Amino acid sequence: MSEETSEQGTTAPVEGLDTRYRDALLPVFGTPQKILARGEGVRVWDTDGTEYLDLLAGIAVNTLGHAHPAILSALSKQAETLGHVSNFFASAPQIELAEKLLDLAEAPAGSAVFFANSGTEANEAAFKLARRTGRPRILALSNSFHGRTMGALALTAKEAYRAPFEPLPGGVEFVPAGDVEALAAALAPGDVAAVFAEPIQGEAGVQPLGTEYLQALRRLTREHGTLLILDEVQTGIGRTGHWFAHQAVPHVQPDVMTLAKGLGGGFPIGAMVTFGQEVHDLLEPGQHGTTFGGNPLACAVGLAVLGTMWEEDLLSHVRTVGAQFSADVLALDHPLVTEVRGAGLLLGIGLDAPIAQQVAAAALEAGFIVNAPNPSTLRLAPALIITQADLDTFVAALPGLLGAAAPEGEN
Ligand SMILES: *Cc1c(COP(=O)(O)O)cnc(C)c1O
Repeated sequence: MSEETSEQGTTAPVEGLDTRYRDALLPVFGTPQKILARGEGVRVWDTDGTEYLDLLAGIAVNTLGHAHPAILSALSKQAETLGHVSNFFASAPQIELAEKLLDLAEAPAGSAVFFANSGTEANEAAFKLARRTGRPRILALSNSFHGRTMGALALTAKEAYRAPFEPLPGGVEFVPAGDVEALAAALAPGDVAAVFAEPIQGEAGVQPLGTEYLQALRRLTREHGTLLILDEVQTGIGRTGHWFAHQAVPHVQPDVMTLAKGLGGGFPIGAMVTFGQEVHDLLEPGQHGTTFGGNPLACAVGLAVLGTMWEEDLLSHVRTVGAQFSADVLALDHPLVTEVRGAGLLLGIGLDAPIAQQVAAAALEAGFIVNAPNPSTLRLAPALIITQADLDTFVAALPGLLGAAAPEGEN
């Protein structure tokens, strides 16, 4: 580490933060890996001054990395003028961000945006909207993740997340992801309000649904008058090298799309986009609401994120560096690496043994932040501004990390 970064990276030491965290915070997240003090671009420093290459970006959130000047400027300018107004009033950033999202989503006339503050809230809004069709059943896919509040949890497949909180809102059924026949059978009675799906299932370990299944999903839902609700909370906002992942798939425009994570580049914001007049009309005045949603600070930052992505042509950058990274990892020809899944900079490295947790831990010790969404997958979702050179350093380190984590004799 250079002297300069060492100096900047070390904040005044704060004693006993580990124990104070344990004493003051609810333990729902387990023990935090490090206490971070500072970030800049794709790097962060912990309270000991140790530097890390941040290949996770707060789980696909910090689109422009840490402390990006465009975000700083948008946030401070907005905070100087108008911070919060409630939804009794509107503000220009809110209107402009809604227009921008509709434009990027190539949404038809009559489309509209509802702003929330997180992914789970965006999905709650979509759940309520689906109920308004009057149809009793809602479908979600196996291995889905849609959030932790009760409605979004009802749409989330993972038993360990659901079971402690039952009863959950009813009417939700799960169909196996990728199985067109099962989907067709479930939709056949014509009483399904909506199907919720993630174009790439992020928490499941970066599992793409695939072009054919997504197209079948669109065709069958349309045939049966069922809403297609795409959860692009993780895949949206350029993460996959397209503004929204579904835009890479011909003829797949959803009826509703939910967004959050990358939209605020680190500032909390979520959004539900409805496509077309018919869906727009499902929620009437007074039927949904939020105090913070559409907050001028959040929307000003969202506009800065989208504007910077546009000016710097980050979508093509994401496609280029993501494809090169995948090719480079496969070219290692490492016996423990089975595949690289995902698109753009939402990447899952499939491992041939349940050692992803250990590899992620070894990576952290070596100065790389990645995570293990399941025992055999390493996930990378770095800031979209990351350079090939920074990605190269991880590719170069990967064989050593796998070696450090693999059980004796397996490497
Ligand atoms: C993270 C995530 C959510 C939940 O978002 P929160 O902001 O944590 O509530 C929902 N859906 C998907 C696909 C996600 O990746």
